[in-house]
Amino acid sequence: MAATKTSAKGRILIAEDIQVIALKHSAALKQAGYEVQVAEDGEECLKKAKSFRPDLILLDIMMPKKHGVEVIERLRANPQTKDVGVIVCSAKDFGTEQIKMAEMGAYDFLVKPLDPSDLVAKVNEFFGKRKNAKHPVVTRDSTGFTEKTFRPILLTKNACLTLWGSRGSTPTPGAAYLRHGGQTSCLSIVRGDTVLIFDAGSGIRDLGQQLAKSGARKIHLFITHTHWDHIQGFPFFVPAYIPGFEITVYGARGFGKDLKSVFSGQLDRDYFPVQIEDMKAKLNFVQIGQEPIVIDGIKITWEFSNHPGATVGYKIDLGEVKIAWVPDNEFLKGYTGPPDDITRENELVAPHLKMVEFLSDIDLLFHEAQFTNEEYPKRIGWGHSGLSNAALLVCLAKAPRWIITHHDPLHDDHFLEGKLNLTRQLLERLGHPIPVSHGYDGMTEYL
Ligand SMILES: [Zn+2]
Ligand SMILES: [Zn+2]
Repeated sequence: MAATKTSAKGRILIAEDIQVIALKHSAALKQAGYEVQVAEDGEECLKKAKSFRPDLILLDIMMPKKHGVEVIERLRANPQTKDVGVIVCSAKDFGTEQIKMAEMGAYDFLVKPLDPSDLVAKVNEFFGKRKNAKHPVVTRDSTGFTEKTFRPILLTKNACLTLWGSRGSTPTPGAAYLRHGGQTSCLSIVRGDTVLIFDAGSGIRDLGQQLAKSGARKIHLFITHTHWDHIQGFPFFVPAYIPGFEITVYGARGFGKDLKSVFSGQLDRDYFPVQIEDMKAKLNFVQIGQEPIVIDGIKITWEFSNHPGATVGYKIDLGEVKIAWVPDNEFLKGYTGPPDDITRENELVAPHLKMVEFLSDIDLLFHEAQFTNEEYPKRIGWGHSGLSNAALLVCLAKAPRWIITHHDPLHDDHFLEGKLNLTRQLLERLGHPIPVSHGYDGMTEYL
């Protein structure tokens, strides 16, 4: 909605939970010709930032419901409010918060108690500079920053991916696994307020802790298949227990039981102390069809992979970048020869052609290579690829970048290092020397 025309000098939202202070500041600013509204806590501040569309928010740090730092983060993440001016008013000089808030583009920091005339002077100064500058200008130097300090601001409108679980089959804690981590499959892709999660292995627990702090929201959880290592973290996913969250779980047709029964079954009394009825979030279960699923402009499509049971891989089209998540796929089942001999036309590739096609336009591929070539002959039909077969798939699909995930529980950090070097050599040998790395728990990247 367009901002309403007003004869006032500007619109100011005072976010302040102490009524006496709010009234005093409000009166002084109104008298100085500004239109003023008051919010009593962080949540109300975010609401009014959208409805009242202030030019400037006077933000208290210590507020009920939402901390000031979180409020400013949310303001900057929302296209509607990202440019609003912010002056922080706090009873205490918190160095850490000040730096954080300066990074988020706060115009200045004022320490309470404040003389109303000082406040009006500072606000006048803000509006004076604002006329000539689209974005807030930082003049404060007590944090070490000056107007000339180059301080690039993180664009939170860009998507961010985080790998929360990079291990296959079963969680693998222990000192020998510290660098890659031992949590089972889970990837999140977050853009603004949109949260997409792929698989609910044990890694989703850490993600849940973080989401719970950020306040209620909608979450979309895509499951590749319902083997334990892809769903076992769900009973520990805190947002599922918090009223206000809405979690939609997507899975492919062809599972033995329907998706909801599998998820409820995990929380059966024989296995778990609380039941699915105790989850107070709104839970939806959706069977994915052929039509792409579009969530806030992000398009998600899928293709079957070669793995026991109905298993899919997902492609996430963010517009600027396409990512594929295929953690479980036995490419060229039973083939143990050299990859160089296999072309796209080979009959062994035929059952996988749809997947090869599916991956042919992506920018980044998450795909397994769980077994070494020495291990694979003893594990044919387990649903996972031998290393050189996986490298061949990446080559046939012409994927420009590969992050290997779903590491075998037997492969410790030292072993995985050697395996990655071998993977690089294999890709070179196949004439497709793309960047390849091993996924690890906590791996984060802005896209
Ligand atoms: Zn798996
Ligand atoms: Zn599986």
